[in-house]
Amino acid sequence: MPANPDQTETIAVPAGLPGVDRLLQDARLSDLAARAGRSCVVEAARTVLDEARARLLEGGRVDPDGLAERVVAHVAAAVAPSLRPVLNLTGTVIHTNLGRSALPEPAIEAMAQAARQPVDLEYDLAAGRRGDREGRLEARIRSLTGAEAATAVNNNAAAVMLVLNTLASRRAVPVSRGELVEIGGSFRLPDIMRRAGARLVEVGTTNRTHLGDYEEAMAARPALVLKAHASNYAVVGFTRAVPERDLAALCRRHEIPFCIDLGSGTLIDLECFGLPHEPTVQEALAAGADLVTFSGDKLLGGPQAGIVAGRADLVERIRKNPMHRAFRLDKLRIAALDATLALYNRPETLAETVPALRSLARPPADIRAVAERVAAELAAAAPKGWRVEVADCLSQIGSGALPAEALPSAAVRLMPEFGRPKMGKKAAGRALRDMAAAFRALPVPAIGRVGEGAFWLDMRCLERPEALLGQIDGLAWPSPP
Ligand SMILES: *Cc1c(COP(=O)(O)O)cnc(C)c1O
Repeated sequence: MPANPDQTETIAVPAGLPGVDRLLQDARLSDLAARAGRSCVVEAARTVLDEARARLLEGGRVDPDGLAERVVAHVAAAVAPSLRPVLNLTGTVIHTNLGRSALPEPAIEAMAQAARQPVDLEYDLAAGRRGDREGRLEARIRSLTGAEAATAVNNNAAAVMLVLNTLASRRAVPVSRGELVEIGGSFRLPDIMRRAGARLVEVGTTNRTHLGDYEEAMAARPALVLKAHASNYAVVGFTRAVPERDLAALCRRHEIPFCIDLGSGTLIDLECFGLPHEPTVQEALAAGADLVTFSGDKLLGGPQAGIVAGRADLVERIRKNPMHRAFRLDKLRIAALDATLALYNRPETLAETVPALRSLARPPADIRAVAERVAAELAAAAPKGWRVEVADCLSQIGSGALPAEALPSAAVRLMPEFGRPKMGKKAAGRALRDMAAAFRALPVPAIGRVGEGAFWLDMRCLERPEALLGQIDGLAWPSPP
């Protein structure tokens, strides 16, 4: 006898639960299929019935009248865009898990325009034939950095991979042991090098590397020397690294390229925002780097991308590598990167126009004012047992820039006071985790952090306090343990 899936369904249904077909006859679901597609509604109904069945088997209760509503909710979740907007109140400005920085408005507009209609992406309008995909982007990077040439690819990991695969396939590449970095999301320099076909030659030690160490490595006839910016860690104490100028001179003597992976790579001196110094792309090139690689969505504040800037002959070889085609940018990101770079023509306005820099340069008094406002409203809504206050805290740049540096900021701090005078550490920890979860359960989830006996909401990146204030009524405050 042929198996009838709906029949199996019916047989497994404990008393009291409808089958999929009967559930789908509910009036509340009738026009759902027309809007969301029948298969989506059927799948949601199956999921809801499976969950209800599991609950019954565990001895729980199920309200059969609530099933249709649950299907509606499942379908709504299934058709909603899968990426949800969140409020980054973690204190880490360029947060990789939260999509790094928001894009500048002109970049968003340029992306929307390129998405909506055909564009002259790779078409020469004057000549009426195929044109240069990267020409305008390259011209911008050249004029901003002083590099002879440049190319942009999927991300900085791809940029490093391309440099190594193009220039050092099956050849030695010396790297200081103090720079063998692992970045979150499985970028580990030794692994990237191996995959790119380059042979890593470790030089120096973790804390100290001397020019003589690199000179010795020249015996391996390296293809290039790679210096990686120690982005997400700092080697402190008894340390030594070889100045870039000296490495550049050594490479020139041996007629091999000197490449610097800057990681974040900024085009402006962060000191003009009162931030600590982070090496700029221009400085790296001026120090004698033949190629510099950096990210588009770290301190630059644009879309995900990796930029290789430097000597024209080397960039040309990189462009000819078939991997370059595999890593190339699509029109949306070319549009966004181009529009972001255009903003750098007016450096004096960057602290307004580029959200990442705006957050980093935000005056502490501004942040504190937001914290006061949010704390007042939260305190008014807080049930007995929760203390709400404004507290000084330290934000981080994130994404590997200046890991040891912290930026003075202000937070709203929530602390449980249940079971006074003193509640157990375990109960307090649970209450804080529940509080963090309650903020994550808001319609626009707010992501904070738990630490030092409190739940912290760093206000540095909250540009529109209303986005949080408007949700406070709906916050499900954890009840006392
Ligand atoms: C972040 C980083 C990378 C990877 O850049 P993505 O753009 O995230 O791919 C590579 N090298 C360094 C030193 C970095 O800091």
